[in-house]
Amino acid sequence: MEEGKNSIEFIRREELEKIQVNRLKKTIERANNSPFYKNIFKKEGIHPEDIRCTDDIRKLPFTTREDLRENFPFGFIALPLNKIVRVHTSTGTTGKPKAIFFSKRDVDEAAGLIARCMRMTGAGPGDVFQNMMSYGLFTGGLVFHYGAEKAGVLVIPAGAGNTEKQIELMRDFKTTIVHITPSYALYLADILEEKGIDPEEELNLRIVYLGAEPYSQKTREKIEKIYGVNAFNCYGLSEMNGPGVGFECPLKDGLHIWEDNFILEVVDPLTGEPLPDGKEGELVLTTINREAMPIIRYRTGDITFIYPQVCGCGRTHRKISPIKGRTDDMFIIKGVNVFPSEVERVLMDTPEVARNYQIVIERERSLDIMRIRVEIKKRFFDGSLEHLKELQEKIKSKVKSELMVTPRVELLEPGTLPRTTGKSKRVIDKRRL
Ligand code: ADP
Ligand code: ZN
Repeated sequence: MEEGKNSIEFIRREELEKIQVNRLKKTIERANNSPFYKNIFKKEGIHPEDIRCTDDIRKLPFTTREDLRENFPFGFIALPLNKIVRVHTSTGTTGKPKAIFFSKRDVDEAAGLIARCMRMTGAGPGDVFQNMMSYGLFTGGLVFHYGAEKAGVLVIPAGAGNTEKQIELMRDFKTTIVHITPSYALYLADILEEKGIDPEEELNLRIVYLGAEPYSQKTREKIEKIYGVNAFNCYGLSEMNGPGVGFECPLKDGLHIWEDNFILEVVDPLTGEPLPDGKEGELVLTTINREAMPIIRYRTGDITFIYPQVCGCGRTHRKISPIKGRTDDMFIIKGVNVFPSEVERVLMDTPEVARNYQIVIERERSLDIMRIRVEIKKRFFDGSLEHLKELQEKIKSKVKSELMVTPRVELLEPGTLPRTTGKSKRVIDKRRL
């Protein structure tokens, strides 16, 4: 494939749309071999010829998580089993797992997209890449691994957890790039601090890929400062191959979606109506370059908006804003919609706050209460009780003025809350227990 300004990344929009239309038609043909879509297409009279422009995608029905679960495990496969070489399942953060199948070509194409993302951020031969995402059924491990090899970097398949070993590997092999969850990056920073290792001075890191869970700009800045790196947002979901579906370019303002592989829409989560660029809603994605398991108009549940303007880097593929959360992460408290990432933004903007927090929602005499349990830097705990009270009030009023909900705030010593090496669970909703 051509590199640089002549590559597919910089293709003219008209050309890109032609590719999309052709690939979408092909996807419908392929999907018609799967029991699930065959049935739907027949019922609704859908044919590849119905597609003349990308907007015609709206003639097709949505696919939901429930569809994937109800047709588990083989209802979506569009190739005979002897042409399928790999299966991944989602981590199941939101219920029973979904199975995603890959042909040999699918594995290769998914790796190609990761390689494209890595090159975009300036990674390449000579770099040492430590993948701290869990290997196995989760896509963050293997799918990223294959892509990194394709990008020509030296890959250390470290997997998640085992922090002592991670540090040893980073030092021995002079790791320059890591792929990690933001919560583990902060946890790892704590351990490095405990050991008296200065990450900026004593490690060789220059790039960090942060993905698998929502986080605020403040958290990114914190991680960049601690490690002395450039941190890029990396978004993906198993249903769409895994990581590398959306990735930040060097401008770090929004994530490019590779539109030669996915058709991108944002819809109103309640009505399913398409929303104009710039308007926040639910991301809907269609695979248009996958053969074993095409998925059409998938309701990701992730909240974002499409950037109306073209990116300054010159890449023509459109960008989405960092994912704010999932529609099902959002909780409603006293009638106000709250995303955990909004609470996180306020906390991480408070200098006294350390690196870990938890939100507990409770009901007290039929009133909803949001309790924020947050770890505070050690030295503030050593100060006077008066100071702690002031800090508690400060966090309370900041949350109130930005989120319109008055929380109860509990200040904790560092290390009190459970720490995670993978995806973190930030919200405990006791109303549902
Ligand atoms: P599960 O749905 O079981 O958690 P996945 O591992 O496929 O399984 O997780 C994909 C989900 O993780 C996405 O739909 C999104 O909600 C979240 N996610 C992944 N990357 C990011 C990111 N960079 N920012 C915010 N959320 C992310
Ligand atoms: Zn860009």
